[in-house]
Amino acid sequence: MAQWLSGEVIENFAWNSELFSLRVRTEPFTFTAGQFVRLGLTIEGQRVQRAYSLVNGPADPVLDFLVNRVHDGLFSPALHQLKAGQHIEVSQPASGFFTLNEVPDGDDLWLIGTGTGIGPYFSMLTTAEPWQRFQRIHLVHAVRHAEDLAYQPLIAELLAERAGQFVYQPVVSREDHAGALRGRIPALISSGELEAAVGCPLTPRSQLMLCGNPEMIRDARELLASKGLPKNLRRTPGNVTIEHYW
Ligand SMILES: Cc1cc2nc3c(=O)[nH]c(=O)nc-3n(C[C@H](O)[C@H](O)[C@H](O)COP(=O)(O)OP(=O)(O)OC[C@H]3O[C@@H](n4cnc5c(N)ncnc54)[C@H](O)[C@@H]3O)c2cc1C
Repeated sequence: MAQWLSGEVIENFAWNSELFSLRVRTEPFTFTAGQFVRLGLTIEGQRVQRAYSLVNGPADPVLDFLVNRVHDGLFSPALHQLKAGQHIEVSQPASGFFTLNEVPDGDDLWLIGTGTGIGPYFSMLTTAEPWQRFQRIHLVHAVRHAEDLAYQPLIAELLAERAGQFVYQPVVSREDHAGALRGRIPALISSGELEAAVGCPLTPRSQLMLCGNPEMIRDARELLASKGLPKNLRRTPGNVTIEHYW
């Protein structure tokens, strides 16, 4: 049965005018990296709640959420306005199966996210599991504009600590950016550009996680299935594990 914890906003950090990291302290609870909670607020007298992935590692005491303000949305503009010291409700226990224990073994792990869909991967990368189970880990972040490439300091730390095992590949669709591929994930998989950029081919020993925009997930999933990399289901294990944000 879901329970609500009272959380205190510690920080609302703006990556740019629309993208922000909300850091919240609650009483401690356990979760598996990749899971999400619901955040709850009362907006104009109505109780509203939405799902958000936990970006912080399970061992971190402060909850971290990477959120995009949806302009005509109801909940995310209210989150965007929250300031340190204000309160928000956090559901417990955390939910979801977008977790590494649902992913079969393989040689290389591709963590592919659009926009805020990169968040759950940071949580996973704080744990020992991906580093112990996979020889190579590719973190692929697809955004519209380069200013949406959040968490660069954390990525720089991972690149320094895990040289040889960890590759970060940004993808920017609407402008050129140094080091980034230009375009959409499905097209870059189809053309072979993504494999060339990270220096690793997709093979039956590849495991991919896809998170974020449902169109990207649908198109990438169909393409990967046509390359012999089917969706991963509990009853029929495959290569592609997915989480839709809407
Ligand atoms: C399992 C799960 C985990 C999620 N984790 C996150 C998260 O970590 N960060 C996050 O920002 N959102 C996340 N979401 C989406 C979040 O729950 C809300 O839908 C989102 O914040 C919009 O809420 P809203 O009330 O402002 O908009 P609504 O009035 O509910 O409008 C929804 C519309 O907003 C758009 N939209 C929804 N989410 C996003 C997004 N992230 N980026 C761009 N457009 C979007 C879609 O067009 C969708 O139809 C998650 C959703 C699910 C199901």
